Parts: sequence; structure tokens; C-alpha cells
Amino acid sequence: MKYCWKKTGSFCRLIIRRSARVPTRFLFIVASLLCPLPGFAQEAVDSLNSSILLFTLMIMVIIVGGGLVVLLLHHLGSSSFRKLHASLTHMPLAVAIIKRKDGSLLYGNKSCRELLGIRKLDGRYLYPDEISPQMMFDFLRPFSFRRGFRNVSEELHFAQGRMLKLTVSGQPVRYKWQPAWLLFIVKPPQRPTSPAKLKQEQRVFQQVLNSLSELVYFQDKSGQTIGTNKAFDRFWRGRVSEGVMGDDDCVSGANNSSHTWTTAPDGSSRLLETNKTLLIGDNGEAIGTLSISHDVTDWHEMQESLKQEIEKREITEQALAQRNTLLDTIMSASTDPIGLYNEHGIYVGCNEPFARSLGFGQGELLGKVVSEVLEPDKWELSQEADQQVIREGVALKMDDYVILEDGTPIWYEVVKSPYRDPTDGTAGVLVMARDVTERKMAEQQLADAIMELQELSFIDSLTKVANRRSFDEQLRKLWHSHIREQKPLTLILCDIDNFKAFNDNYGHQQGDYALREVAKVFRSVVKRETDEVARYGGEEFAFLLPNTDMKGGEVIAAKVHRQLAEKGISHMYSGIDTKLTVSLGIATITPLPVQDYGELIEMADIALYKAKAVGRNCTMSMSDSDGF
Ligand code: GH3
Ligand code: MG
Ligand code: MG
Repeated sequence: MKYCWKKTGSFCRLIIRRSARVPTRFLFIVASLLCPLPGFAQEAVDSLNSSILLFTLMIMVIIVGGGLVVLLLHHLGSSSFRKLHASLTHMPLAVAIIKRKDGSLLYGNKSCRELLGIRKLDGRYLYPDEISPQMMFDFLRPFSFRRGFRNVSEELHFAQGRMLKLTVSGQPVRYKWQPAWLLFIVKPPQRPTSPAKLKQEQRVFQQVLNSLSELVYFQDKSGQTIGTNKAFDRFWRGRVSEGVMGDDDCVSGANNSSHTWTTAPDGSSRLLETNKTLLIGDNGEAIGTLSISHDVTDWHEMQESLKQEIEKREITEQALAQRNTLLDTIMSASTDPIGLYNEHGIYVGCNEPFARSLGFGQGELLGKVVSEVLEPDKWELSQEADQQVIREGVALKMDDYVILEDGTPIWYEVVKSPYRDPTDGTAGVLVMARDVTERKMAEQQLADAIMELQELSFIDSLTKVANRRSFDEQLRKLWHSHIREQKPLTLILCDIDNFKAFNDNYGHQQGDYALREVAKVFRSVVKRETDEVARYGGEEFAFLLPNTDMKGGEVIAAKVHRQLAEKGISHMYSGIDTKLTVSLGIATITPLPVQDYGELIEMADIALYKAKAVGRNCTMSMSDSDGF
């Protein structure tokens, strides 16, 4: 075992000592420490201290040395990078360095900047607007980065239709520690155009310019006019300087438009709109300007009149809006119905009370036609009135009776007025109504009261025939008219026979009933409108028969006897008959102005007296010819 250990220990020492490389030695030391072999561990620990020291020293030497190498390399790289920059910058060939990863521009020399329009800003290089990093990335993607590429043709399109044909060669490089493309860009030489062809092209170009009605002129960089067309020459003959815009008016790289009032050769004032455009040469430099002038006088005048029209319209619209607001406010505030319909009978405006009076809501009524809304008979009346209002331009006033949906009866005093819509000139009718129900009711009540009063004062309350007052009034009027017209006037006085006995036997109430029945018979006897039956007093009646002679009176009297007999009012205590009978006295006069109507009454009275005297239930007559 000891031998074994000794052997093993010597072997280990041998290995450690013989291990020329420090890391190998260090590994064996670590292994011996980990390995549970006595003796070998002791050897390992002894050599450990000196090995660690040695190893640490070696590491430090490596780090410092490495740092120095890196610094040296960087210094060398920077100086070669600066040298490369310097040589590329002044190279006549256009050179660009493009980042392989995304196509962004890392560098462009002076020639490249001029050729492509690359800008340099704060040490960064920027593509012109027409080129993007993505475009460049897409262009370079197909080429092998290892081998590069040579003489590839490419076309670049710029603003205003400018096109640039290029030949590009690419070489892979590392620029600022990243893979990049070093591009050499060449503009192939353009084949010179033959002088004859050039001349023909110029001729065609000039013809085209001359055919234009616009005024065209070219200026070079110094502002010198180098070409014009015929329209320009015609317009500005003898005063070319007037037609040429100054240099200050031209804005670099952009279209510049200006307006100028001037006098045309025919003496009229014209407005010219001139557009000045910068002309860019093939190498991207400004070579002059192109100016084109249009006559925009008509357009300007049209614009002006349009502006005025718009202003006028705006003012009208404002006024209309104000008026409409005012009208709406008035209509909404009014408790009286107000409505508006046009000449076609379409409701174009109304307030709530108006719509309600026709059984609609405000929104429902608008747009409806009057003929659909009103009852046919009302529509007929309304149409007549509307036509008159529109045709004659006058306002009409009328009463209208309406029963609302809830059954409320309303009287409206309606005023219809003509109106004309100021916007489209349409005529129409403005309807304003006022609720006059209370006034109408009062009028009605008054009329009823008057009627009642009149009835009270002229009608006999028991028999409903005219009373004595009415009789007197009527007799007086008729008397005078008969004097004028010299027509016969007949009066029949009528007295019920032995009526006292009737009352006494049948009672007063039965007596009243008999009087009403007798009056009915008398009313049915007279047919003419002008004839009048009146209660003369008690159980006496009178017939006043205008324009009737004695004969006519006798016909009436005979009818009275007959129809009363037919009525057959029982009177068992009459002493003459079992039915109620009457005695009649007729008087007829064609009155003279000197006479008094009292004479007629007196004559009839005498005749009646005679009838009583001869036995009752008969008629006696008397006329002025009887020598009264
Ligand atoms: P003669 O044939 O002569 O006319 O006899 P008479 O009884 O009709 O005459 P008289 O003048 O004596 O009587 C009239 C009567 O009529 C008296 C009264 O009882 C009755 N009379 C008058 N006015 C009314 C009345 O308004 N109602 C009733 N029921 N009776 C009346
Ligand atoms: Mg009597
Ligand atoms: Mg009597």
C-alpha cells in the first residue's frame, strides 16, 4: 500500500513538474486536491502557491499585452479609415458606402453627392427624397456580398420627370466594423444629338409653343429673356419688359404664381396669372426659368360675381333665418291658431293650437294637403275663399265652428291673408284664427233672451197666438200700408158662445184647455203668411186679414165654424149645441187717410154683437159700404 502511494506520489510530482503548461499544471493541482490520495495531496499543496502566483502573473501579462495590441490595431484602422475617406472624398468617380443590413447611407463622396443630390447633415449622409434606404436595400439584395457586382445599369426617377441613367459597381467592405457595400457610380456618357436633329427638335418645340394661347417666355439664370412664343410677342409687343417677371418673384425649386392687371393690345384691362417654374439641367443645377401667363380676367370676373352672389345669398339666408326664428317664436308664443299653406294647398307652417284645431299634431300636419284635412263641405267653402284671397290679394274674415277631438265646441273668427314666399315666389294663404266661443255664446244667449222677450211681449202665453199688443201693432201698420195701397183690410172678431157656462161647469183648467184647442183650430184656418190670429182678450179672438175683401173674410169665417165643429169640443152647457161654438163679426174697410183703424174694430164689434143677438154660432158682417 505504502509502495503504491509512494509510487503514485512520485508519478504525480513527475506529472506536475513535467507539465510545461501552467494551466495543465494548475489542473493537476486542483485534481490532486480533490483526489483523496495521501502524499499526492501534500505535493500538490506545496507546488500550489508558486503555481498560482505564476499563473496570475501570466494572465496579467496577457491582458495588458492584448490591450496594447487592440489599441495599436484601432490606431492603424483609424488612420487607414481617414486615409480612405480623404482619397474617396476627392475622387472624381461617384462613390457611396451603403450599410448592407438595411441599405442606409454611411458615406457619399463629393461626386456622388452632386450626382445623386445626397445631403450631408451633422456628419450624417442623407439620400435625396426620391431614394429611400429600403429602395437601396432592395437594389443590392440580389447581389452576392462575397463576390460583389460590376457595371449594373439602373435608372433613377426624380421629380418633374427627370430621369438619371447610372452604371453601378459594388464591392463588399467593412466600414466602421460593419459589413457594407462600396458602390462606384458612373453616369454613362450621353450620345450627342446631331445638329440637324437638334434643329428640327427646336423647330417643333417652337411650333408647339407658338400654337399655345398662353404667353410663354424663358429666362436664363441671370434673368435674361432667351425665348418667347407668338402669343407673348403679340400681347407684349413693344413693352416686353412689362411682361417679364423679376428674379425676386421666382422662388427656387417651386412653382411661383403671380397675378397682374395689365392693358391688352386692344386697350382692355386684363388680369394675367403667371406661373414661373425653375428649369433644372441634367446635372441637377438650375439653368433658368419658364414662365407661362394665362388670361384669367373672365375667370376672375366670374369669381367676383360668384363671391358677390354668395355674399348676397348669405345675407338673404341670414335675414331669412332671422325672420324664420322670429316667425317661429311668434307662432309658438301665440295661443291663437296660426297656419300657413301654399298655393298648392300644402301646409308649410303652423303652431300647435292650429294643428290641434284640425285634429293633428304639429309635426303630422306639415306636408299634408288641405283637401285631405278638411271635411268636403268645409273644403269647398275654404277653397272659394282661398282663391279669392290669392287672386285678389285681399284678407277675408269669416266665422268657423269646430268640434275638437275631445268634443269641445269652439267658434273661431278666422282671418285669411295672402302671402308670398320671398325665396321661391310661391303664393299662399296665412290663416289666423281667434277663439271667439265666449263671445258667440254670449251673442247666442242674448239672441235667445231677446227672442224670449219678444215672444213674451208679442205672443199670448196660454194660446201661443199673437197677443193683443201684437194685434194692435199689426193693425196699425196694416192700416197705414192699406191706406197707401188702397187695398181692403178685413177684421174678424170671434167670441166663444156661452163660455162662462163652460168654465163654470168644466172648471177653469178645462176652460184654458178649450181656449188652446180653439186657438189651434184658428191657426190652421188661416193659410196666408200675412194673415194673423190674435187673442183679443178673455175668450175673444181676432183675425186680421190684409188685402182681403168681405168675401174672403166670409170664407175664413165659414171655415172657422166648420173646422171647430169638426174638432168637436164638447160643451153640454152651451144651450145652443152640444159642441163648443163661436159667433163671428166681420168688418172690411179700404181705409182712407182721414180714417182711424178704430173704426174697423168698432164695425167688427157691431157685427159680432149682431151675431150674438141673432142667436150665436153664426157670422155677421159689416163693411164701410154699409154706411157706418
Ligand atoms: P156670450 O155667449 O154672450 O159671450 O156668453 P159668455 O158666457 O161667453 O160671455 P161672458 O162675457 O159673460 O163670459 C166670458 C167668460 O169667459 C168669463 C170667463 O169665465 C171666461 N174666460 C175669459 N177668459 C178666460 C180665460 O183666460 N180662461 C178661462 N178658463 N176662462 C176665461
Ligand atoms: Mg166675451
Ligand atoms: Mg163669450
